[in-house]
Amino acid sequence: MIAAPSQDGNVFQQIFVEHWDGFKRIYPRYNKPYYDGLVDKMLACGDPERMGYIEYRCLHCGEGTQRVSMSCKSSLCLRCAKVYVDNWVSQVSQMLHAGVIYRHIVLTVPEILRKTLYQQSQALLSPCRRCGVQCLDDAFSRVSGKNLRGGYIVVIQIHGRNGQYNPHLHCIATSGGWDQEAKQWVHVDYVPYPMLRKKWQWPRLTMLRQTVKTKESHRLVDACYTRYREGFVTHVQKGDVPSRYQSLATYLATYVVSPPISLRRIDRYDGDSVTYHYRSHKTERVERETVDVYTFIGRMVQHIFSKGFQRIRYDGVQATKTFAKLKGLIQEALAKVQGIIKGAIKIIAPLTYRQRYQRSTGHDPLRCPHCHSDMGVWRIWHPTYGVIHDELEAIRRGKYASQASRAAPTGEPGRTLWPASGGISLSLPGLQ
Ligand SMILES: [Zn+2]
Ligand SMILES: [Zn+2]
Repeated sequence: MIAAPSQDGNVFQQIFVEHWDGFKRIYPRYNKPYYDGLVDKMLACGDPERMGYIEYRCLHCGEGTQRVSMSCKSSLCLRCAKVYVDNWVSQVSQMLHAGVIYRHIVLTVPEILRKTLYQQSQALLSPCRRCGVQCLDDAFSRVSGKNLRGGYIVVIQIHGRNGQYNPHLHCIATSGGWDQEAKQWVHVDYVPYPMLRKKWQWPRLTMLRQTVKTKESHRLVDACYTRYREGFVTHVQKGDVPSRYQSLATYLATYVVSPPISLRRIDRYDGDSVTYHYRSHKTERVERETVDVYTFIGRMVQHIFSKGFQRIRYDGVQATKTFAKLKGLIQEALAKVQGIIKGAIKIIAPLTYRQRYQRSTGHDPLRCPHCHSDMGVWRIWHPTYGVIHDELEAIRRGKYASQASRAAPTGEPGRTLWPASGGISLSLPGLQ
């Protein structure tokens, strides 16, 4: 089996083995099969006997073999986090269009509202995202004096850098919007901060008042209006962000979709408390924190979204079909204001297992160490379904009888293997 490159995930797993049951007793909100399932998968990740595996063998000399454990792809698993982030970057990059200028805007929620959001997350998170879109449309329309609809990629992030609950929205927004009446794209160079803050505060609070109809929530809303007269905090990335789309997506991914604490950041665990460090955006320094083990588990699990929740959404003109139609017009309009618009977007395909391994170790895991040919899939085994693929069986049945030669597996992206028995689809590290 190939271990994840030299990072120690065992401490993380050990913490869950020792304290998950205790944690659930104190926080029954997490005592659900859904969370248990994620924890189980995370604990089994990397173990070929529990997760299943693919065995590669050199089909040329028959000597070289390699066994690769299937990964769990659970949102809780730190081992799988890197893959998850890579795939996210690839997905977002494909949604950014050449010749269109984007801005990164962060919309935050003040501290006194966070508790309500935490308790009512199911009811509030989705409307919260819609509020963000409405806020930006309003701001663009106000600045331009026209009724505009922008294009947005909105990601909900619910923890801050240190893992504490701090829900906020990351929006990648077009710089301007589509004027439906005039049938033209209107570029908006600048959105004044004070206005954006107000525009963000108002729909947020109205939504909260309408969704959570308790006295306490109404008191909170009133308190927000008096306490935050300037509106809620918003942050617009300054400068020429859009010149490199790929780095924008990567930059976003590093703290938008990565788990709160990456593996190498756990410094110490003594059975009762955990010490970890993180890089703070506020102080620009590495901060160290020691918390009791239940607080630590809490910080790790609270960023898991409920089943089926979509944390990233494409909204406004960015929604796929609409955007394809408008793209030409947008580029034309922007060319007028900006001169020539540079920046072809490089679409990044997600890395395969083979590429990732090669990058981190410098070795190609699927090259036969004896004869240097590419190895092929020999056997696939799944704990529930047993042997899904057996190359030797296939050869016996005469698989290659009519084929002159066979292409070696190349690890191209996008291939998913469907077992002949039907019913399950497995993404395989070597082939996907
Ligand atoms: Zn995993
Ligand atoms: Zn060989």
